Amino acid sequence: MEAIGSNRIGPSGTEAKTKYIFITGGVVSSLGKGISAASLGLLLKKRGLSVNIMKLDPYLNVDPGTMNPFQHGEVYVLDDGSETDLDLGHYERFLNQSMTKNNNVTAGQIYHTIITHERHGDYLGATVQVIPHVTEEIKNSIKRLETINGKVDVIICEIGGTVGDIESLPFLEAIRQMALESGEHDTMFIHLTMVPYIDTAGEVKTKPTQHSVKALREIGIQPHMLLCRTAKNLEEPIRKKIGLFCSMSSRHVIEAIDASTIYEVPLNLEQQGFSDLVMERLQIDAPPADTADWEEFVSRIKNPSNRIKIAICGKYVHLKDAYKSIIEAFIHAGAENSARVDLVWVSSEDIKHGGAAKFLGDVDGLLIPGGFGERGVEGKIESIRYVRENKMPFLGICLGMQCAVIEYARDVCGLEDAHSYEFYRDLKHPVIHLMADQEKITDLGGTMRLGAYPAVVDPDSTTYRAYGATEISERHRHRYEFNNAYREMLTEAGLKLVGMSPDGKLVEIIEVPDHPWFVGVQFHPELKSRPTQAHPLFREFVAAAVRYKKHKTDPAPAPSSPKTVG
Ligand code: GLN
Repeated sequence: MEAIGSNRIGPSGTEAKTKYIFITGGVVSSLGKGISAASLGLLLKKRGLSVNIMKLDPYLNVDPGTMNPFQHGEVYVLDDGSETDLDLGHYERFLNQSMTKNNNVTAGQIYHTIITHERHGDYLGATVQVIPHVTEEIKNSIKRLETINGKVDVIICEIGGTVGDIESLPFLEAIRQMALESGEHDTMFIHLTMVPYIDTAGEVKTKPTQHSVKALREIGIQPHMLLCRTAKNLEEPIRKKIGLFCSMSSRHVIEAIDASTIYEVPLNLEQQGFSDLVMERLQIDAPPADTADWEEFVSRIKNPSNRIKIAICGKYVHLKDAYKSIIEAFIHAGAENSARVDLVWVSSEDIKHGGAAKFLGDVDGLLIPGGFGERGVEGKIESIRYVRENKMPFLGICLGMQCAVIEYARDVCGLEDAHSYEFYRDLKHPVIHLMADQEKITDLGGTMRLGAYPAVVDPDSTTYRAYGATEISERHRHRYEFNNAYREMLTEAGLKLVGMSPDGKLVEIIEVPDHPWFVGVQFHPELKSRPTQAHPLFREFVAAAVRYKKHKTDPAPAPSSPKTVG
């Protein structure tokens, strides 16, 4: 990860102590605790402080890798290969800082460690209990950030779940203990709640917030500040009322109003003196937050000069959280192209043979995201054929690239039954298959090719023109690979293999010739896109879609070839 370290000097000229901010949530889930934590991280960094941030997840899975995207949303993969919660994506994007496995700890991991120690006899005959053993292990996992990832000025720690959940109790108890064991101004509790607007009463209601803070107090935590998620502005009398019931001044009752883009959240909070109040509580002396570049980024999102449509054809299109990072990557790429990208969600199962035009006739580009399982694969292949033949920009990610290889093998090489070994075992033409050393693996958790791997890019390619570099590193999460037995046949038929692993064994990137923009990648570029640094492939894919649309509406000039970047 990028070098981080303490930027502050303590009172006696020694390195200052790390301060801790704990963020809890109440009333309901999905209020945006991750975005709030990430916004605070951004603001503190913009004040010149060094920051690290983590999420404690109270569920018993060791990691979300085996969880259904329907329940959990996207699995966010880090450089080190750990499969984490999608909030880690917000952390990386807002803080512009890469995370490691230490930034996401689950109850499953905590219990796994404890039970392993118990089986080794490490507790010397003691009865192993939630207090102190589980709470100690939780505290260690928080403090470990300091020792492993480097000392920083502030560590922000988000507690997953909602106050009142049985499973989050040990976590809340652990942070209560941490505050008790630290100096008065070394820790801070921020609680995110909801202040609903009741239409029939014509007013906002503070009771859920009062109850949620009451639940926190019952376990010994008095929050120092409230972030109140609301659809309406919170007037001073309401803030006063909330403050009175929750034992804090109305200044500490911050309005977290619904925003048109999540990237506006830190700016909205900061307008109310959010980070000043944090500095006050933690007794840190730091200059005001310089958010100029962020403001410029938000203004680009809100004032686009172009508008394009990109179709996303996948299996979980009804659950947008499953494609969180892709959605964000399009926002970053749109901002850099002054374009608003409207995403058109197409369920791949709806596309039947010959029927892609109905769904794609009106869009300016197609993205096929990663995925697992055979459902909807034929629709994806069909849609790829359509965009290849109609010269519409295409970006295939992971399974999307694999489908593009299958489509090319079938339609251009005439291998009619080409398919992936993931779906059928007795295939005549498994153009996507399992690497020999993976065949033995039967366990499902963490058995994929995961995390950052380097690739070498052909300088004569659309991909190179995007990156402006021949050596790249990207994050992976897959089991199956391009089958090298078909390399010759497919390349002779025109398919370009423009990105390879450094040893030349694995195909990482494919392109189709005589096409304005057709790129398939075995990795997940969306995981490395950052707000003010859009991912090169997303940036150039959006640029190609803008060109495609211009050509469609004004076909006189030929579509210009992609510009050279880098
Ligand atoms: N299911 C495919 C594989 O395991 C692709 C995975 C993905 O798209 N993330 O290789």
